[in-house]
Amino acid sequence: MSPDYYLLDELLTDEARDVRDRVRAFVDSDVLPVINDYWDRAEFPWALVPKLAGLGVVGSTIEGYGCPGLSRLAAGMVTVEMSRGDGSVNTFLGVQSGLAMGSINLLGSDEQKQRWLPGMATLDLIGAFALTEPDHGSDSVALETSVRRDGDAWVLNGAKRWIGNATFSDITIIWAKDVEDGQVKGFIVPTSTPGYSATKIEGKISLRPVQNADITLDHVRVPESLRLQRANSFRDTASVLRLTRAEVAWAAVGTSIGAYEAAVRYAGERVQFGRTIGSHQLIQDLLVKCLGNITASIGMVVRVSEMLDAGEQRDEHSALAKAYATSRMRETVAWAREAMGGNGIVLEHEAARFFADAEALYSYEGTREMNTLIVGRKITGTAAFV
Ligand SMILES: Cc1cc2nc3c(=O)[nH]c(=O)nc-3n(C[C@H](O)[C@H](O)[C@H](O)COP(=O)(O)OP(=O)(O)OC[C@H]3O[C@@H](n4cnc5c(N)ncnc54)[C@H](O)[C@@H]3O)c2cc1C
Repeated sequence: MSPDYYLLDELLTDEARDVRDRVRAFVDSDVLPVINDYWDRAEFPWALVPKLAGLGVVGSTIEGYGCPGLSRLAAGMVTVEMSRGDGSVNTFLGVQSGLAMGSINLLGSDEQKQRWLPGMATLDLIGAFALTEPDHGSDSVALETSVRRDGDAWVLNGAKRWIGNATFSDITIIWAKDVEDGQVKGFIVPTSTPGYSATKIEGKISLRPVQNADITLDHVRVPESLRLQRANSFRDTASVLRLTRAEVAWAAVGTSIGAYEAAVRYAGERVQFGRTIGSHQLIQDLLVKCLGNITASIGMVVRVSEMLDAGEQRDEHSALAKAYATSRMRETVAWAREAMGGNGIVLEHEAARFFADAEALYSYEGTREMNTLIVGRKITGTAAFV
């Protein structure tokens, strides 16, 4: 049974259908056969990168600079299909396209876009996005990494935590507070700059192939030409997250579909009490609940994408989609795993990987609680988190 229960396919343009099919073929032929092994070893699947670069999806909705300029719905299809295969590959792409390239596209000068985006679109240059700090995650607005103007350069000091792609990135977007005016500014920092170091976070139980790092910045000196010219306050940083949070909601749909499809397959093969388990009422109940979650989430993320394309979407719209779709995903992957009994916790049967990866999606790019409070502020007019 297809997870596209209410025929989203009929809403897609030829462009969206075409890119969906291209990514689906890549996932089926290249990602699924190898990804469990990378996940088990917590290794990034570099072998997939050349083909990923050739898919024409890096840069997503960005127009020009070698990027595909996809509609939000087509970009959503890319995210769903990647995540249906593997959350780590999708996260690598999300950090590159949405967070790193997205920051440069939204907040960089034309010159900065010309200089950095074409190389990033071909994956010859890998980017990371460093906002979170050891002592500031949900309250990243209170970040402590400092930057001081020194002649025609800037000097950065501080620490970042959890930064995806950062063990191998060529550049990292660093968010820091200007000691002079107290405002948050963004910098494109080449990782070869003296004073910059990144250390892999070991022992993760979720998105194991994603290389997350602790970063230290010890008098890292960058020229004015590397300051994002249109990033003048934390409000600008948040404008990047408004877009990427909607993408995480799409990723939650893809993750749910991956787990659901694995459970449906398994339910059709596994025999207990002389019948396939899919013919038992309670297993059917689990599968129907999964499909209901997926279908409801699709409705929400499609509408958010349309609003983004129309310029009508606000922080609270992305926040609700992210909180809702990741909450439904967390239920769905657990039910899919449950439907497989003991095999549900073994990588070979697929649901286990989605089950574990869902935990990171649930918490990154704003936890369920923080996104809930953003919507709560909209409903009541009172912010509960200041
Ligand atoms: C796999 C992974 C990849 C990531 N990649 C990146 C990246 O590339 N770049 C980057 O900058 N960051 C990245 N992050 C960081 C991520 O955005 C943070 O983990 C997230 O914002 C939560 O921050 P925290 O982990 O410090 O949790 P905390 O802020 O310490 O929160 C702990 C708990 O307290 C709750 N809480 C906090 N404040 C409140 C409140 N006021 N009311 C109610 N509950 C509250 C939270 O919801 C959470 O449940 C990544 C994280 C993970 C796990």
